[in-house]
Amino acid sequence: MIAELKRELEAADSVALVCHVSPDMDTLGSAVALRLLLEGMGKRAVVYAQDGVPGRFLFLSGMRDVRLPDEAVYDLCVAVDVSDPQRMGEAEKVFNNARRTAMIDHHPTTVPFAPVHVIRPQAAATAQIITELCGRYGWRMSADAAMCLWAGMSTDSGNFSFDNVSGGTFRAAAVCVENGAQPSVITEKLYRTSTQGHIRLLGRVLNGLQLSPDGRVALLKLTQRDAVECAATQEDGEGIVNFALEIESVQAVALLSERDGFIKCSLRARAPYDVAQVAVRFGGGGHVRAAGCNFEGKTIEETGAVIAAALADAVK
Ligand code: 5GP
Ligand code: MN
Repeated sequence: MIAELKRELEAADSVALVCHVSPDMDTLGSAVALRLLLEGMGKRAVVYAQDGVPGRFLFLSGMRDVRLPDEAVYDLCVAVDVSDPQRMGEAEKVFNNARRTAMIDHHPTTVPFAPVHVIRPQAAATAQIITELCGRYGWRMSADAAMCLWAGMSTDSGNFSFDNVSGGTFRAAAVCVENGAQPSVITEKLYRTSTQGHIRLLGRVLNGLQLSPDGRVALLKLTQRDAVECAATQEDGEGIVNFALEIESVQAVALLSERDGFIKCSLRARAPYDVAQVAVRFGGGGHVRAAGCNFEGKTIEETGAVIAAALADAVK
C-alpha cells in the first residue's frame, strides 16, 4: 500500500487533505505538512477541517490556510488521522466528491474506507507515518512541514512519553529536527502557554470531581453554564480530562462536555486498561488509553451514570 499511495499522490494534480472533527495537532499537523510537501512538487493541495483550526495551533505556518468544506472536486482526497468516515463531519463531502481516495491513519479501531490505505496502529502518530513515508519516498521536507510533523508526534505521544512511543517515533522526531523543526518553540507554545478560560475552567471542572466508591473511576463534568461563567471556549476544555488520571487510585476517567444537542465524552485510562472498547460500545472509537464517543438524548447526569458503570466494568 505504501507504493500505491506514492503513485496516487504523485499522479494527482490536485489533492485535498481532510482532517477529523474537533481537530487535534496530529490530524492538522499531518495534513498541513502533506500539503506543503505536495505543493513543493508543484501540485495544488488544500487542507479541510470542518471545525477550523484551534487558535493555539496558529503559530505554525500553513495553519491559516486550512479551509472549511466546500464543493470543489479534486483528483485525490486523502483522509488524514481519520478513524471512520463520519469523523470527517461535513468534510466527508470533499472526500466523496474526489475522483480517487486514500487514507493515512494510526488508530487501532480504524476499518479501511478508502481503496488506498496506510494504517499503522503501532505508530505513535499519523505525523510519524508521514515522516517515515517522506524518507521512503525520497521527498524533501521543508522546515515548516518539519515543525508541523514534530508537533503532531509530540501531542499524540504526550510529548514523547506515552507507551505508544518507539525507537521509530524518536527517529522520525530526529528527522524533523534535522529538517528545521524547533522543539523549544513548539513546547513553549503548546505546553507552557494557556488561556484564561482554560485555567478558570480547569479549576471549576476539577472542583466537581466525582470518584467511584473504590476510587478507581473518576468522572468530570463540564456544562455549558461552566463554559459561560468561565468565559471559556470549547477549545478551553481540552486537556482537563488528563488531570483526574493523576490521582493515585484512578485507573480510568471520563470527562463529559455538554454541547448543543449532545454530550461529548472523553475517556482516558492507565495501562493495562482499555477505553477504546468502551468508546466503541457507544458508537465512538480512538486509542486504547485515549478514546471518545458522543451521547444524544440523555442529560449529562444520565450519561455520567452510564459511562461510570461502563468504566467500572472496564477496570475490574
Ligand atoms: P479526545 O478525548 O481528546 O477528544 O479524543 C481522544 C481520542 O479519541 C482521539 O484519538 C480521538 O480521535 C478519539 N475520539 C474522540 N471522540 C471520538 C468519536 O466520537 N469517535 C471516534 N471514532 N473517535 C473519537
Ligand atoms: Mn493521531
